Amino acid sequence: GLTERLSTVFDRLSGRGVLSEKDVEEALREVRVALLEADVALPVVKDFITKAKEAATGEAVIRSIRPADQVVKIVYDGLIEMLGGEEPVPLTIALNPPSVILMAGLQGSGKTTTAAKLALRLSKMDRKKVLMASLDTRRPAAMEQLATLGKQIEVETLPILAGQSATDITRRAMSAAKLGGYDILILDTAGRTTLDEGMMSEAAEIARISQPAETLLVADSLTGQDAVRTAKAFHERLPLTGLILTRADGDGRGGAALSMRAVTGLPIKFLGAGEKVDALDVFDARRVAGRILGQGDVIALVEKASTDLDQAKAEAMAKRLAKGQFDLDMMSDQLAQMEKMGGMQGIMGLLPGVQKIKQQVAEAGLSDKMLARQRAIISSMTKAERKKPDILAASRKRRIAAGSGVDVAEINRLLKQHRQMADAFKMMSRDGGKGFARMAGMMG
Ligand code: GDP
Ligand code: MG
Repeated sequence: GLTERLSTVFDRLSGRGVLSEKDVEEALREVRVALLEADVALPVVKDFITKAKEAATGEAVIRSIRPADQVVKIVYDGLIEMLGGEEPVPLTIALNPPSVILMAGLQGSGKTTTAAKLALRLSKMDRKKVLMASLDTRRPAAMEQLATLGKQIEVETLPILAGQSATDITRRAMSAAKLGGYDILILDTAGRTTLDEGMMSEAAEIARISQPAETLLVADSLTGQDAVRTAKAFHERLPLTGLILTRADGDGRGGAALSMRAVTGLPIKFLGAGEKVDALDVFDARRVAGRILGQGDVIALVEKASTDLDQAKAEAMAKRLAKGQFDLDMMSDQLAQMEKMGGMQGIMGLLPGVQKIKQQVAEAGLSDKMLARQRAIISSMTKAERKKPDILAASRKRRIAAGSGVDVAEINRLLKQHRQMADAFKMMSRDGGKGFARMAGMMG
């Protein structure tokens, strides 16, 4: 697997302070192979490798982590970012019903099946009143296919009338949806087996008439590079709002997802994962990133790496605290850690020896929802101010207040709290540093 190959690269290195350009380059050669094997388009691979190199080079080597694992984590985080981040992008629903969802894509990509999957999801999970209409005038069987799926999932379909054009049907579907009080109208278009101008101009005309809230390109993830070309061509002609990749249940490794996202910049909203009407998954960048790296255990590994990293940071902080140092940068780091660990209560509950801090923190009114605001205040300060809060005169406080959107009183509260914590830490440091060892363990 990728990690083993990477560790071979790094086994030769020892005792270095930072990941050097050469080390990183060598490691990324393996990543490049993994990406190409996953069928990611070459320009996307190149771009990704350049970014990963920038991110990794010069990173401090964390002693408790193997450099190979550290690079894998950097690569993994980079993939997630390139796939659009951890948060899925929900479907847009127009304020004025019917909210139209237009399905576009080549023939056989899975449009009709996916239309039904979406309809099922919207009607059962979101309790929306959904109408589906097939605009596939070329193949009467395609209209029947949608009607059959509709019956199966108990979602209405527009009655089929012979002899109407796709645009006629679009207008009829729009007024039926309005009159019938439907929340959502899903328009299933006709595809062609290859890209052609007729299909594109028809789809563009349908989009103009129906003003869709979502125009979703359905693409077969197993077609790899072709899917990328398709996405590009559709994106140039239609106001696409998102992608759905079908056949994610096949043996592809998700490279198409990364390429299509990179080429179009469009969010991937769902993955089709089978022929059944309930086989539709909300797109999960983490899962796909793991698949692209071809590592079943990559996620566990990455989680371990970040735990180790946090642990290393916590230990470094504990060392400084033991010397009685506690500046606002450290406070900000700590606030971030606290947020990550489920807030103040979670942390304080874990620290039996710091009843006093607990009480002071409570008195200072440090609640979970304040953590983020306090970090915003600290980030509005200059480096010098964070190191030496004593220099914060009234004019500086006003500037920071403006920068972080709070009033000066809140800054004063934060500074008071910082002083109290610094004092408490100083007290604990006289206690032989026992409290810190415990704290480092807790914060990691
Ligand atoms: P359309 O021509 O774009 O409307 O494509 P269809 O919806 O008719 O789908 C073509 C074929 O692909 C059908 O046999 C579907 O069952 C199948 N299909 C669609 N989505 C998926 C999927 O996510 N996974 C698998 N394995 N098959 C799918
Ligand atoms: Mg179809």
